[in-house]
Amino acid sequence: MAFELPKLQYAYDALEPHIDARTMEIHHTKHHAGYTNNLNNAIAGSALENQSIEDILTNLDMSNMAVRNNGGGFFNHSLFWEIMNPEDKGRLSGPLKEAIEAEYGSFDGFKEAFSKAAATRFGSGWAWLCVHKGGRVEICSSPNQDNPLMPGVGCDGYPILGLDVWEHAYYLNYQNRRPDYISAFFNVINWNEVERRYNMHK
Ligand code: MN
Repeated sequence: MAFELPKLQYAYDALEPHIDARTMEIHHTKHHAGYTNNLNNAIAGSALENQSIEDILTNLDMSNMAVRNNGGGFFNHSLFWEIMNPEDKGRLSGPLKEAIEAEYGSFDGFKEAFSKAAATRFGSGWAWLCVHKGGRVEICSSPNQDNPLMPGVGCDGYPILGLDVWEHAYYLNYQNRRPDYISAFFNVINWNEVERRYNMHK
């Protein structure tokens, strides 16, 4: 069964002015669609064809670059769209808030650490907030389309929040100003969805 490009749950312009419509449209219909098609081509006829994307990434042979790059790209962007929301963003609360404060002292401490991970990832990649079994959270980053589900990548937990810091994610609106894009991202995080993922995977 082939993987399908997920539909966005909001319009391309819904995250403006923080993320512009043109960037969203290209990112979804060109980049994410490309990863999805290339993943399907890479697994066609192989034993991976009937596995979930989580199983594919968790058990990945890291030398299989086609599945590593495109399976990562498929999963990472599917998560990225869902943890953003233009409207009912909710507020960080409950057990996730407590776990973040236990690790980073305060929300501001978390924001600073996450922003640093995103800003200092050289070249293309992602910043992540992961949850470990038991509920502890950890920030890390990964290069290219790698993610923490893959063997030996990042903080080895389950990613519940991710930020794409490839230039294609921000260059039209922010050019080389990655820190401004990172700051803007915090205005569109869907904390209800991040909390849902935390509770599911802790
Ligand atoms: Mn991207």
